[in-house]
Amino acid sequence: MSPRTLPSLSGKAVSELKAVSPRKVAGLRALGIETVLDLLTHYPRRYADRTNEAAIADLIEGEEAVVTANVLRSSTRRMRGGRSTAEIVLHDGTASLTCTFFNQGWRARQFSAGQRVTVFGKVRIYRNQRQMANPVIDLVGDQTGRIVPIYPQSGKANVSSVELSRYVNEALERAGDFADPVPERHLSDLRLVGRTAAYRDVHAPDELADTQRARYRLAFDELLRLQLLLVRKKRAVASSTVGLVHDTTPGGLVASFVHGLPFELTGAQRRAIHEIAADLSQAHPMNRLLQGDVGSGKTVVAVAALLYAVQGGHQGAFMVPTEVLAEQHYLSVRRLLDGLMVPDPGRLGGEWLLHVELLTSRTPAGERARLLGLLATGQLDLVVGTHALLTGDVTFSSLGVVVVDEQHRFGVEQRAALSEKGQAEPDLLVMTATPIPRTAAMTVYGDLDHTTLDEMPPGRTPITTRLVGWEAEGAVWRHVRAELDAGHQVYVVCPLVGGGAMEEEGWDEGLDARTADGSLDEEDLIEDDSSGGSPPPSRPDGRLALTLETERPAPRGAVEERERLGATELAGYRIGLLHGQLPSKDKEGVMEAFRRGEIQVLVATTVVEVGVDVANATVMVIEDADRFGIAQLHQLRGRVGRGEAKSRCFLLAAPVSALAEGRLEAVVRTENGFELAEADLDLRGSGTVLGSRQKGRSDLKLGNLKQYRHLVLKARDVATRVLDDDPELVDPENHLLWEEVELFVSEEERQFLFRS
Ligand code: ADP
Ligand code: MG
Repeated sequence: MSPRTLPSLSGKAVSELKAVSPRKVAGLRALGIETVLDLLTHYPRRYADRTNEAAIADLIEGEEAVVTANVLRSSTRRMRGGRSTAEIVLHDGTASLTCTFFNQGWRARQFSAGQRVTVFGKVRIYRNQRQMANPVIDLVGDQTGRIVPIYPQSGKANVSSVELSRYVNEALERAGDFADPVPERHLSDLRLVGRTAAYRDVHAPDELADTQRARYRLAFDELLRLQLLLVRKKRAVASSTVGLVHDTTPGGLVASFVHGLPFELTGAQRRAIHEIAADLSQAHPMNRLLQGDVGSGKTVVAVAALLYAVQGGHQGAFMVPTEVLAEQHYLSVRRLLDGLMVPDPGRLGGEWLLHVELLTSRTPAGERARLLGLLATGQLDLVVGTHALLTGDVTFSSLGVVVVDEQHRFGVEQRAALSEKGQAEPDLLVMTATPIPRTAAMTVYGDLDHTTLDEMPPGRTPITTRLVGWEAEGAVWRHVRAELDAGHQVYVVCPLVGGGAMEEEGWDEGLDARTADGSLDEEDLIEDDSSGGSPPPSRPDGRLALTLETERPAPRGAVEERERLGATELAGYRIGLLHGQLPSKDKEGVMEAFRRGEIQVLVATTVVEVGVDVANATVMVIEDADRFGIAQLHQLRGRVGRGEAKSRCFLLAAPVSALAEGRLEAVVRTENGFELAEADLDLRGSGTVLGSRQKGRSDLKLGNLKQYRHLVLKARDVATRVLDDDPELVDPENHLLWEEVELFVSEEERQFLFRS
């Protein structure tokens, strides 16, 4: 029998397995399992080591254990918000154990007194009682192995882990040996186990250690498939697309811009501009990612790139995801370009004043019509804007360079629309203010070239960061008053606008934490996290949304906080208010007043995250800091430390989850954006890096970037070597490899990967 290929298994329905009764087919479908391949790639979430079986009286807090006991009683409790929780009390003759199933009230009906069950989970002692939250239940069955796989489940599916394991075993037995698409020499170089062993050991291991090797190999396969696509795409773009050849001769507009700056460029900025110029002078379009920490001076580099377009008689567009950011970027770009003259090649010695404008959906209709006219005729050199730049009626005379800031928030369609705005494919510079670890960048931005600003402009001073509980709030305000009395200025940031207004536009990342948090460890929630059955999970992503008995205090809004501080802690100081919902004019006015020192304390929302640059500000107070993401905290903190004086950042928070605490601790620990990005990745895992849009047979089930970070580099390397030898992947030897890429990486996922 020739070895099985994964594509052939994707043609076999699970119903062909003898162990799968017709009744279970629908349940399997609910788990996304229709084919034998689906089944084999439905990997165990974890494994229960049955040798860890213990008497309840011997259970140790914080450790995982398997317990077999009798059901004493079961009941359902209604929680706030209408969800119900099942509680099952077990006794094994030594002690009792309470198992709690959050949001799974239906569980109570599964058990009756006297029934014998086995549970697996992490032990907690709460109010003197031994407990397990959402344990895996019912391991008894006919399991004989020592290592029992535990599969992701849902109540809706009504297919137990034991049953899944039985189906998988039959499939493995009937499949026999698997064909291996990765050339043997690469496998041995990387010391990867073969496919056959990998699939067996991930599902039916003899030893726990076997599962590691198996997962490692399967993760490698997932990453390799992505890298093959990315490397191929990158090479295809480089050789096929035709773009503009820009005029990058030294001594032109860019040189006079740089010359006119009030500071010297850093070495890193110089290098970056140089790399961009080299890209722009090539016929194929630039596709470059510019990474740099907060304050590393990306704006100057971006503006230089845009000016190369203008220097050659083209136009530049600076795109950002929100109105507020567009306005702020516009202000800082305008300041940088103030008075810059563009030489007119049409007239000897002639020149014009560089023309830059702002275009967002807030731009009034008349003004918009005027700007569109200028853009179409080429009288407007640079435009800063939001997605409003992409709407059908905007045409450029000749769009040469596009800078996209905060790329995560741009979708595929928008990017496509943008490239249609130019006659030739415009050159593209993607900036991210959130440094991305190299390995993640290699996956998410794998088809882009990279430039990193790894050097800070001189003059930044280290910032001391403290995590402060609300009970010690008074000490923070005492410090704030002392700084104000010494003539310095202070930012106070709140997560909400308040005054009944909604959250800031755009910044969903940090607010996300609010729903994800519970006072239990994430760990407690991972079993059965789809929380299926009834009632349905309240979150669209299916994560368990806990209603806890201890409600969190409501977050403070900037509007109310300004009033409160003005009346209490900071009475007598000049306090200003800044948030995204103020009219642009007011915002500009407030920022200008703060810049001039007329306002001493700026109470704001995350609007201050970018653009505001006041060297005299020495304190950043972030309220409800547990509600922000790492990247946001880092960006906010970057507003201080810009002058000579010692700066501090206070994170006022009541951390309620391990996850929030992890974020805050990371921000306290380091000021290095790249280290923070790594920490962020560790805390989130890969799902959020690649976007939550991955659905269905999503690859990267195992290729979790956190765990397999170094594997990304290996996969990149193998992909490069394979494509060096066989650029189109047409060799018979690589046929299966390519078939698998097509099988696993859906059209949707490809779009997502190639959004840039
Ligand atoms: P980023 O966008 O990377 O966070 P910015 O471009 O906003 O950083 O720059 C931060 C601040 O540093 C701005 O006030 C900018 O004018 C200033 N800056 C940029 N480059 C330099 C430099 N080479 N030397 C001194 N200051 C600089
Ligand atoms: Mg910036």
